[in-house]
Amino acid sequence: MWFRRDLRAFDHAALHHALVQARQDGGAVYCAFVYDTPILDELPRDDRRVAFIHASLAELAAELEGLGGHLLARHGDARTVIPALAEALNAGAVYVNADYDPAAIARDATVAAALEQAGRAFHAYKDQVIFEKSEVLSQAGRPLTVFTPYKNAWLKQRNLDPQVLAPWHVDPHAAQLAPGRSTLPALAEIGFDEVDLAAVGVTPGMQGGAEAFEAFLPKLAAYGTARDYPAVPGTSQLSLHLRFGTVSVRHLLRTVGELAERGAAGDGGAIWVSELIWREFYQQILFHFPYVVRSSFKPVYDKVEWESGPEADELFAAWCEGRTGYPLVDAAMLQLNRTGFMHNRLRMVTASFLVKDLGIDWRRGEAYFALKLNDYELASNNGGWQWAASSGCDAQPFFRIFNPVTQSQKFDADGSFIKHFLPQLATLTAKEIHAPWLAPGKAPDYPAPIVQHDVARQRTLARYAVVKAGA
Ligand code: FAD
Repeated sequence: MWFRRDLRAFDHAALHHALVQARQDGGAVYCAFVYDTPILDELPRDDRRVAFIHASLAELAAELEGLGGHLLARHGDARTVIPALAEALNAGAVYVNADYDPAAIARDATVAAALEQAGRAFHAYKDQVIFEKSEVLSQAGRPLTVFTPYKNAWLKQRNLDPQVLAPWHVDPHAAQLAPGRSTLPALAEIGFDEVDLAAVGVTPGMQGGAEAFEAFLPKLAAYGTARDYPAVPGTSQLSLHLRFGTVSVRHLLRTVGELAERGAAGDGGAIWVSELIWREFYQQILFHFPYVVRSSFKPVYDKVEWESGPEADELFAAWCEGRTGYPLVDAAMLQLNRTGFMHNRLRMVTASFLVKDLGIDWRRGEAYFALKLNDYELASNNGGWQWAASSGCDAQPFFRIFNPVTQSQKFDADGSFIKHFLPQLATLTAKEIHAPWLAPGKAPDYPAPIVQHDVARQRTLARYAVVKAGA
């Protein structure tokens, strides 16, 4: 069993199937994880996600040991490490949960081919989503590229087959896990530093996932309204756990479904389920249209000419570092840089600001988020950026341009989120804080706006005119 983005030992499709097969064959299941160097080599030493994985693996190993097994964690290129490990263990087959990221698909194809050559099988299961690949299509059998029809088809299919939410049990009594001692390299051995995850409010592993879900459930009913305000802890903070599989999406949906049946999920329950469906929507977009990794979903948007050169580089640096002079944008970027999380409303505001106020290619912002977000997920990040840039499927129209001041007035009215990250604005009133340049002398340590929104807006409309012309 090769664990990747599924770091748990319950409700686990591949582990379930591996154990069933082992029981039938009278065999045993070895559990492995690879710190995959083609991925890790790109990351800074203090990457929070690697620390999260490291801590989650320690918990997973302990859990597997409790079930009679152990965990072998290796460091190297998974394309060679996995076939070599399979050979060393004389494994008949390798079990995984499917990953729909194009790079992961290519890696898995290489591993599967190497295994096959040695007479070993490679079995991949659906686990991280309820519906994968082409399971939800239009009536004409085509991928759905607009969210609402996708969501309706998704819900219909789930209602027709409630079994899709059934757990894949890992039966502790019948577990056929190979006994042994876990081997887990220290972070330093794989070239990374310890990170204080607790300081950024993250508890790793299955325990962290369970705690986050428990803490969220009482807030579920109010989610529909609370979710838009970054100063309010109204969302689940489960994205990181969904990313690394320290929660089971089936378990989340079963629990919310049960609450809804008892009338205890309020309006928030259905809205929250919609968000999980957005996640699957983008996963299937990536699967069917892998070109979105580099290009606009709507090709005409690749005709837009972005700002480039030293001036654009300086604007980009100011955006990354949270010194644009727009408090909500800056506070959001500081939240990202310091914690690795950013509230969804702020992801929309900052992405829009980069693309439509600074005129910078969405791919640069996407890459920055990919480096910094703890919950970085190629499908959702790309989908979110292309939504903001208007180049994506079901994106906001190009002429809709967020005003960073009115967004701030609306979603952080009293400025409490801003003040948390920008204490130099603490003395500004709720009226002043959204546009400090209108209160001269009150925020001497805070930069002037790097761009004038009204002017930028006109430039953006002109920039996007090629889209209208080419559409
Ligand atoms: P909740 O509001 O509690 O939502 C529950 C879950 O639904 C989330 O954990 C997430 O898995 C899923 N979800 C919620 N909103 C979306 C959405 N718009 N698209 C896809 N899935 C969603 N999400 C990521 O998981 N990884 C990313 O790399 C990522 N990048 C983004 C980039 C941009 C520009 C934008 C606009 C959005 C991005 N999102 C991304 C979506 C969303 O912002 C986060 O999922 C959400 O903020 C995570 O917080 P939460 O777990 O408290 O979410």
